[in-house]
Amino acid sequence: MAIIIKSPQEIEAMKEAGRISAKVLREVGARVEPGISTLELDSIAETLIRLEGGIPAFKGLYGFPASICASVNEQIVHGIPSAKTILREGDIISIDTGATVDGWVGDNAWTYPVGTISADKQRLLETTEACMWAGINEAVAGNHVGDIGHAVQKLAESKGYGVVREYVGHGVGRQMHEDPNVPNFGRKGGRELLRVGMVIAIEPMINMGSRWTRRHSDGWLVTTRDGKPSAHFEKTVAITADGPLILTTEPDHERPV
Ligand code: MG
Repeated sequence: MAIIIKSPQEIEAMKEAGRISAKVLREVGARVEPGISTLELDSIAETLIRLEGGIPAFKGLYGFPASICASVNEQIVHGIPSAKTILREGDIISIDTGATVDGWVGDNAWTYPVGTISADKQRLLETTEACMWAGINEAVAGNHVGDIGHAVQKLAESKGYGVVREYVGHGVGRQMHEDPNVPNFGRKGGRELLRVGMVIAIEPMINMGSRWTRRHSDGWLVTTRDGKPSAHFEKTVAITADGPLILTTEPDHERPV
């Protein structure tokens, strides 16, 4: 599949899906606390997305049954929300969610602490978020997709962390997953040229231990092979003549990110 370039008008139209995706992620994140189940978080997300006039972008995608992916501790991505998964003090939870509005998709993720977490986990969260920003800074026309992965990998590995390779960022548009793939590893100048009008999800998945992953028998859940925690931060970003433009953001919120 070829990379689909978006016009300035199309990027403008994508902002509403991005805004709702960001708002829902923030509001669901605010509900993270010991004792809540990931199924409750999913229900909150779906309600909010529909209240805002969106459609849950994850629900039904490749058969996924929920509006969020909820991945706790050593779970990397694609955790299915469950009434049996109750958050406990000291956990971390990665929430990945998105909305479709007027046929356009927004996609974003954040890893939240549950109550007070260990210093090790706090460092993992801070570094993984910093990896995301390092990748976003490279999302500039004239750079290459490999520049993003290189920036993410360099920072993560400098802290001794493992970079997940089997799951990667991607183009976003009328489909959740478009070309190009955006790996979180690579070399400067490698892969596709970044051009104005490309919209991509930049989403480092960083493991406290080794990079190796295990896919579980439900066909969805992916965990670290060594059982150590993993974090995941993601934003949908447009490449514009003025640099990276984050679409999954809330312009009216007091702290837009
Ligand atoms: Mg994504």
